[in-house]
Amino acid sequence: MENDTILVINSGSSSIKYKLINPESGEEIAYGVVEQIGEDRSRIKHVYQDKEKKMRQPVRDHLEGMAVVEDLFEKIGPSLEDSQVVGVGHRIVQGGPYFSGPAVIDKTVYSLIEELCPLGPLHNPAHLKGIDAAKRILPKVPHVAVFDTAFFNHLPEKAYTYALKRSVAEKYRIRRYGAHGTSHQYVAHRVRSILGTSDLKQIVLHLGNGASASAIIGHHPVETSMGLTPLEGLVMGGRTGDIDPAAVFHLYREGKMSIDEIDELFNRRSGMKGLTGHNDMREIWKLIKEGDEQASMAMEIYLHRLVKYVGAYWAVMGGLDALTFTAGVGENDPGVRAGLCDSLAFMGVKIDPEVNKEHFSREAIISTPDSTVKVLVVPTNEELAIAQQVYSLVKL
Ligand code: ADP
Repeated sequence: MENDTILVINSGSSSIKYKLINPESGEEIAYGVVEQIGEDRSRIKHVYQDKEKKMRQPVRDHLEGMAVVEDLFEKIGPSLEDSQVVGVGHRIVQGGPYFSGPAVIDKTVYSLIEELCPLGPLHNPAHLKGIDAAKRILPKVPHVAVFDTAFFNHLPEKAYTYALKRSVAEKYRIRRYGAHGTSHQYVAHRVRSILGTSDLKQIVLHLGNGASASAIIGHHPVETSMGLTPLEGLVMGGRTGDIDPAAVFHLYREGKMSIDEIDELFNRRSGMKGLTGHNDMREIWKLIKEGDEQASMAMEIYLHRLVKYVGAYWAVMGGLDALTFTAGVGENDPGVRAGLCDSLAFMGVKIDPEVNKEHFSREAIISTPDSTVKVLVVPTNEELAIAQQVYSLVKL
């Protein structure tokens, strides 16, 4: 019904982010975050209409965090009881081989998310805490898991299989699961709708702090750059992206680093941060303008990786109709968009430099009419995508 709402929850190890959304109109009714859970001065923010409440108080765990959220909805608004909440959507990072779409969280689904904790050790345990806490405050409506990996569960076997000894890969469930799937699925859908056809070979570049590329034919993904975990693929804010796994053996044997240290190095202290000291592209452009050579080289490395992936996916699909930029960098960084597209000029990709100047909070085609490939910017909206998926499941 037109006033139905969905509460979307993204629960991390020390934070709960939430948004109350009307899945049909897309309206974001209220949103907020509880951060630094477990610390003395947890940070809390809740926004509803023109009211914004910010406070700091100790929040011991996720249960207490959700109780604070419930209280904020009651005091600042809108009251959850009066909001026609028909479902709660939980963003879940790792759905492993089990889930290719959203799933109502019953006992089986809950224990599968639990079983997958070793494959998503940073995320899945925190998601379970979020589910437990949210069920306390909204016990009567269905809670639905929306998996970051679900869209890429449809990858062809030849794309998701690593050339690793079969018995070992099977025993430890090592394969490409991908990530950012909700965003890639949402953006690809928007592109089909903007261009008015499903018959498309497209590449979506989700370039945020984490970054990933996907190749999609029609409605189905055929490749994606993130792998067993979100470490693989493009150069990211703090992650290496592709790196020879032998670097791990070397750092372990010669650098005497522990596995946890290498994990931390590759996942948090590398990428643009490792190359320049900054993970934010705005800082890096500032350094480039000041003549910083390391920053210039870091940008070249970032763009080089993008060119390699786009070229490879173009070949995998045997053609390309649409190339789309999304997420923080993709939506806001004309320099990155131009840097990549200029390298693709030999294939007839041409963007309009005037149109490309914009920082986009809207959907736009930035290629010229004579470009061989349509180039677009489509702001991603993972929360809305989650709300829509939940609604399509619970409204039946
Ligand atoms: P996350 O992966 O954390 O969801 P986002 O998609 O929000 O990340 O992207 C955050 C990144 O977007 C920042 O680290 C920064 O590099 C980039 N970014 C945001 N705004 C701009 C801007 N105006 N110009 C260039 N880059 C930007």
